[in-house]
Amino acid sequence: MKLGIVIPCYNEEEVFGETTRLLGELFESMIESGAIDKESFICYVDDGSKDKTWELIEQASEEFAHFKGIKLSRNFGQQNALIAGLMQLKNSADALISMDADLQDDIMLIKEFVQKYKEGYDVVYGVREDRSKDSSFKRNTAELFYKVQDFMGIENISNHAHYRLLSQKALNALAQFKEIDMYLRGVIPLIGFRSCSIYYTRDERFAGDTKYSVKALFLLAIDGIASFSVMPLRFITGIGFLLFIFSLFMIVWILFEKIVLNSTVDGWASMMTSIYFIGGIQVMSIGIIGEYIGRIFQEVKERPRYFIDKEI
Ligand code: UDP
Ligand code: MG
Repeated sequence: MKLGIVIPCYNEEEVFGETTRLLGELFESMIESGAIDKESFICYVDDGSKDKTWELIEQASEEFAHFKGIKLSRNFGQQNALIAGLMQLKNSADALISMDADLQDDIMLIKEFVQKYKEGYDVVYGVREDRSKDSSFKRNTAELFYKVQDFMGIENISNHAHYRLLSQKALNALAQFKEIDMYLRGVIPLIGFRSCSIYYTRDERFAGDTKYSVKALFLLAIDGIASFSVMPLRFITGIGFLLFIFSLFMIVWILFEKIVLNSTVDGWASMMTSIYFIGGIQVMSIGIIGEYIGRIFQEVKERPRYFIDKEI
């Protein structure tokens, strides 16, 4: 099989040499053992780095066989860099593996990915079994995030980032998702086909610092929820409905106070009934509008309705 590896890089000059050396060695041995074709390649996608990353990619592509590069015009973020690489290369390999440049993901897993591909899997997820090397902040926030996603009914593969194999068939399915602001990790399970997970221990970064700020992580988390679920909108409808019911009880009580007990100040009853009643109606109306916005939101994504796996 012809394998491609796609690696987004943003200011990765510190790890680049080591990554290239290790992947180069692994590729040689895999080609020698016949696991992959010799036309297989490793492609770095330079996501608008400000350091020497691109120069290093150029150098590697000249010095060693198998290495290629794509340079983006500016920094678009890891997901977009990855999508760019996958879409540019989807027809030049039987399957593409995506991974980070920082050697946090065990590269020996590549052999297992290839093995699974040969067994007929179209999507293979690399799942971190052990995150003890990640900072506790990152571990805890990630856990919370997976729980919230689960609660919102979003299908997700916990502890899976961007270390995965996609067959050409899966890549062509991915290409049919037209949404611009794509949350890749959430979209891939929607593709279907035969898929499986393989497990590994995530290491520390080989060198350099994380390229994700807390702000970027937060925005990513919001994206992961808001682009897959209309539950927050539905929540408003729910609250509005409860408020409306509550307002009916309040009206009964207010009238009781006014007519039966006759213990109210002038104007209190009419004012209180309108506050509760109109308040309830308003929140519920916002929710109803939300329901329609939710539908518009789902429709504008123009997500593909189905993918065909086989025809006989
Ligand atoms: N990355 C990228 N563009 C960005 C940020 C990150 O291409 O704007 C790349 C980065 O070079 C690395 C991968 O995405 O190869 C994962 O980034 P990092 O290791 O910093 O993330 P972390 O492991 O801390 O979540
Ligand atoms: Mg990393």
